Amino acid sequence: MPKTFDIGIDALAGASEPSVPAATFAATPENASAADSVAGAGKSFFIETFGCQMNVHDSEKVAGVLLARGYRPASNAAHADLMLYNTCSIREKAAQKVFSRLGELRGERRKIIGVLGCLAQQEGEEIFERAPWVSLVCGSASYRKLPELITQLEAGGRRVMGLDLEVDETFETEITRRDNPIRAYITIIEGCDYACSYCVVPHTRGPERSRASDSVLSEARRLADAGYTEIQLLGQTVNSYRDPSPRKLGFVELLREVASVAGIRRVRFTTSHPNDFHRDIVDAIDSTPALCDHIHLPVQSGSTRVLREMRRTYTREQYLEKISWIRSARRPISVTSDVIVGFPGETEQDFEESVTLLESVGYDGVYAFVYSPRPNTTAAAMPDAIPEAEKSRRLAILQERQRQIQLARNERLVGETFEVLVDGHNAARAQWTGRSTSNRVINFTSSHESLLGEYVQVRVTRAAPHSLIGEHMPQA
Ligand code: SAM
Ligand code: SF4
Repeated sequence: MPKTFDIGIDALAGASEPSVPAATFAATPENASAADSVAGAGKSFFIETFGCQMNVHDSEKVAGVLLARGYRPASNAAHADLMLYNTCSIREKAAQKVFSRLGELRGERRKIIGVLGCLAQQEGEEIFERAPWVSLVCGSASYRKLPELITQLEAGGRRVMGLDLEVDETFETEITRRDNPIRAYITIIEGCDYACSYCVVPHTRGPERSRASDSVLSEARRLADAGYTEIQLLGQTVNSYRDPSPRKLGFVELLREVASVAGIRRVRFTTSHPNDFHRDIVDAIDSTPALCDHIHLPVQSGSTRVLREMRRTYTREQYLEKISWIRSARRPISVTSDVIVGFPGETEQDFEESVTLLESVGYDGVYAFVYSPRPNTTAAAMPDAIPEAEKSRRLAILQERQRQIQLARNERLVGETFEVLVDGHNAARAQWTGRSTSNRVINFTSSHESLLGEYVQVRVTRAAPHSLIGEHMPQA
């Protein structure tokens, strides 16, 4: 196989602002010229990405496929010959947003328009009916077919589709276009074999498939050679990883090997499923400094009754037991979660149990969502839907309680010093920003003029609910 390589690391040395926003894929002056040298003068493309980090990284790989075919990144959507939307359908709002974006291109004749990702898989041919100006519809499980589909488009194909779900291979590319100069993503597992009753992912991303450990490790080494020091391993259920190669590494063994790659200082992983979360993950974090001391462990509900209806495969007590392993670690490990409110039939008592769970765990961050009925899910047909106004009321209560918990937790950190990997600069506020290994956002002042991509010591001087404020402590 030809050598994989990454473009974008040059921004690490040259840029004075953070990378382009994660939600878009566009050329910066630095990376456009790098791309041109690979691609020559070809047609241009622009990818707009909706949704999670998995989608952001999928877009980086799709961009790699296009670069390898001679396309070059357009500086904005208006100038692109090929406009791709990499979509999310996890909640209805995300899906509506994509259709409204497609509506803006009604009658567009100059560009080729494609819809990729979860909404493409979910809606399939229906997208051509609703937006006849779309030429390409391709779900994420079919990305391996993208070069073939693009060939068909180049040959004048008007309606080209890739919607296979029966796949056993992962999507690996010869070029991955890296858009974030500070943190590099590596997918280690795709799809999902769980069947949570509210979730479209098994229908949109297909069955679980893990990547061979050698392939993951050689990508990690290449990233280290290119100058990256922080890697985030990705998967819908990242800790269900099972090496399909003869080495048969387990998730924890893979974590340890990635963490031992020379030059890699931080390894993160997301998202962990509580069912596959075992004590050995905590032991590995405890004994391996390069493994970040942060675990994202979505609970979804604090009520065992609702968890059963959600088909989450664990009870409140079992989840709390896993939290107790994390709390008994020698390193303080931060814990974040996802919670859904207003699942069908969720009583006031069930909801209260979600609020008390926040208090029992003491999360450092929570992504809270109102339940959104999705096509092809069993929960969509469940009785006792909660009215929208009531869902919103519950969301506001839960978020406010979590805000207070976070503020109290962060206030305890005032006076402590953290190592921060600097990933941005806010010129208006004259502040740098970055993350600690525990994934806390720390905004700080410094007399230094260039810190992007550096590891610095920051002493916390003030706490807010969602971030810490501090001052750079240059080492003597
Ligand atoms: N695989 C991860 C897990 O098992 O926790 C979650 C992946 S999902 C892309 C991200 C989050 O979206 C979920 O944790 C859940 O909180 C939320 N989510 C998924 N389906 C939802 C729905 N139908 N309505 C509201 N939130 C939903
Ligand atoms: Fe969706 Fe559940 Fe799979 Fe997570 S584990 S992706 S919530 S089905």
